[in-house]
Amino acid sequence: MSAPAIPQQRDASASFVLKIAARCNINCTYCYMYNKGDTSFLGKPKVMCADVVQAYARAHELPAVTLILHGGEPLLVGIPWMSDFLRRVEATFVDVRAVVSLQTNATLVTPEWVSLLVESDVRIGVSLDGPPEVHDRHRVSHAGLGTYAQTRHGLDLLIDAAEQHGLRLGALCVADAGVDGSAVFEHFVELGLRRVDFLWPDYNHDVPPPWGPGERAQYYLDVFNAWYRGRHRDVTVR
Ligand code: SF4
Repeated sequence: MSAPAIPQQRDASASFVLKIAARCNINCTYCYMYNKGDTSFLGKPKVMCADVVQAYARAHELPAVTLILHGGEPLLVGIPWMSDFLRRVEATFVDVRAVVSLQTNATLVTPEWVSLLVESDVRIGVSLDGPPEVHDRHRVSHAGLGTYAQTRHGLDLLIDAAEQHGLRLGALCVADAGVDGSAVFEHFVELGLRRVDFLWPDYNHDVPPPWGPGERAQYYLDVFNAWYRGRHRDVTVR
């Protein structure tokens, strides 16, 4: 039996996560970056410098790349930084199909941000954990207050842009075994979101989750049943 062919580099494509901002304007209780004991971010620049961006953009010879912009909160880089970054991407990846996506808590979204993101065809993922009583359990400000209202303000601007200008928009939800997954899913549907990703918060063997056996399964079963019973074929759940 012959070995499977190994793709040549020019046939490959890849996704890269770029952590362009090392701080966040909110303070989610489950945040793996700020609330799990790793304080190395304190010794890092707050924003990725332009030289790193340029070197990065030149480093990969691939026919297609997806650049996923993360933080902290990536919008903390500011509009001038982002405009410059998007110009560099366009100038550097001339023969390369480059897709830029951005994961944001949406609290800093303004009409000016929306214009830039629409013009540059940036795909957006908004971190939203469900309706206010669910979202505000963990996604809180540095003062400990819920952030649903601020997220919703930015999200509504992005939803308008999705409807009017085709902005590609989805939600990223951190699953919470203490709540009803079907209510969370139905909230996303009511908002008109058609792409949702349900992640599990960061726990491991040394730091196990606080939930009992089967509870996380129940959350995902609730999500699935809400999707299936509602015949939401137009909603993609990763
Ligand atoms: S918005 Fe993201 S980076 Fe900021 S505290 Fe929450 S989980 Fe962490």
